[in-house]
Amino acid sequence: MSFTLHGLGVSAGIAIGRAMLMSHATLEVSHLTLAPRLVDKEIARFDAAILAVKSELLTMKENTEHAPAELAAFIDIHTMFLEDPELAEKPREIIRERRCNAEWALVQQMEHLVHQFEQFDDPYLRERKYDVVQVVERVIKELLGHPGRASLKAGKQTKEEALIVVAHDLSPADTIAFKDHRFASFITDVGGATSHTAILARSMAIPAVLGLENGRALIRDGEQLIVDGMRGVVIVNPDARVLEEYRLRKEQIELEKTKLRQLKNSPAVTLDGIDVALYANIELPGDVRDALDGGAEGIGLFRTEFLFLDRGDMPDEQEQYEAYKKVVKGMGGRPVTIRTFDLGNDKDLRPDNNANDRVKTNPALGRRAIRLSLSEPKMFQTQLRAILRASKHGPIKLLIPMLAHAHEIDQTLAALEQAKSSLRGEKVAFDENIQVGGMIEIPAAALAVGIFLRRLNFLSIGTNDLIQYTLAIDRSDEQVANLYDPLHPAVLMLLAHTISSAEKAGIPVSVCGETAGDPKLTRLLLGMGLRTFSMHPSQVLKVKSRILKSDVSELAPNVRKMLRLDEPAKLREALEKLNG
Ligand code: PEP
Ligand code: MG
Repeated sequence: MSFTLHGLGVSAGIAIGRAMLMSHATLEVSHLTLAPRLVDKEIARFDAAILAVKSELLTMKENTEHAPAELAAFIDIHTMFLEDPELAEKPREIIRERRCNAEWALVQQMEHLVHQFEQFDDPYLRERKYDVVQVVERVIKELLGHPGRASLKAGKQTKEEALIVVAHDLSPADTIAFKDHRFASFITDVGGATSHTAILARSMAIPAVLGLENGRALIRDGEQLIVDGMRGVVIVNPDARVLEEYRLRKEQIELEKTKLRQLKNSPAVTLDGIDVALYANIELPGDVRDALDGGAEGIGLFRTEFLFLDRGDMPDEQEQYEAYKKVVKGMGGRPVTIRTFDLGNDKDLRPDNNANDRVKTNPALGRRAIRLSLSEPKMFQTQLRAILRASKHGPIKLLIPMLAHAHEIDQTLAALEQAKSSLRGEKVAFDENIQVGGMIEIPAAALAVGIFLRRLNFLSIGTNDLIQYTLAIDRSDEQVANLYDPLHPAVLMLLAHTISSAEKAGIPVSVCGETAGDPKLTRLLLGMGLRTFSMHPSQVLKVKSRILKSDVSELAPNVRKMLRLDEPAKLREALEKLNG
């Protein structure tokens, strides 16, 4: 049966493919008390599931002859866990003693084991808790009768058909893992338009719809889906006519993209001759290719925390240095702005680390970004040294996230000096004059921007967080996503104030939040005086095409008038006129 679901379209484009359900199976487990006569049967059901997963792993192992060694090692570890009495026997005892269903017994034992693994000092052993969780999830899926990917492979999917990930929620770490796969799209039940999950979808230029509420429950593995990332619509089991219509629209979008590609090598200059710099936001060194393909003149924001989100430990200095060097070399002399870790909030290195429970109620206001870096001096020195070392290979600028206080800047500059001096002592080369900039993404920083202008070499406005904090709406929460508004008069005031103050002080300023990549807002930002934009690579040419058709001398007075408006409807009307 065909039906349609509505959510938030967070990354435009159309995808047509088969659903691949991703589940955190442990969340779905029911807690049942069994009648005594059913206990033996339940144990037999448990044994059968363990056996089935073992044989699934064995088949995988036999098919991994040419796969990376890590894959075989990971299958071995999972098999070993399955054979361990802690997983193969203990849940049987729990089923018998507590008369609970197999799934629930497994989850209880998993929690016990995860707790034990967390006590290890050795990070490698500590990390094995993730393997325990994955093995248990596999067994639970088997018990629940939907083994996920395996069923999809065995089902209707053909080689050419695209896969669409359907999940209740995806963490930024889950999403980053997608970069290695070729998923056509993803859709989730929760998540806001500027959550990092959404940002990653846009950076990968794949359509995505979030906040569907119960897509995960209604869609089945292998069902055909159309995802319209522009309108936020997902059509399940479309009929032939709808399918044809969307195929045509998809082709049209491709055609427009081809046309845009012709702008790749032309400079971004307005009709009245003003040069605009268009940079790319990246998350991984591999994104450099997209940035260059997309026509970016440099990297305006390298979100370094993404490098390490899907692993449990901090990379050492050498590993970070290699990653930064790769980006700077890849950009072949173009400027690269490296932002120090913005960890915390939704980008937690250890997603289920209990130590973070304290801040879970309000992580966006917690020890995030520079606050975390300053409280972990060893981690911060490691990163600063790695960035400085990479600066000998090309023009690197250092960007500090989430600054609000003068003393945070002073402490950061002192930490940088310490890193420089240690490198000098070791006679290691680096750029002595590395430029240091600050993200303006807390309203306090925008209002008291003088503090930043006096201490830093450049500013970059992070509108995603600036809007979140100005309007007091969690950017990852789909329930308040309708209140997220870049055109709110308060947001516009903060943006205009920051840009004009920087201009007066002669300090370069850019916008690197999502507003910079929205062609509907390009003219507004140009009119405010913005000359440097940084956005996900897939947006660069769309924004460039808008710039080529804009005349700043004409639109600046209109934008000034617009900034005096504080009626939302009038503001929207004025924006339409500006873009007309
Ligand atoms: C922002 O807040 O606008 C920004 C660019 O940083 P991030 O999205 O990584 O928080
Ligand atoms: Mg931010």
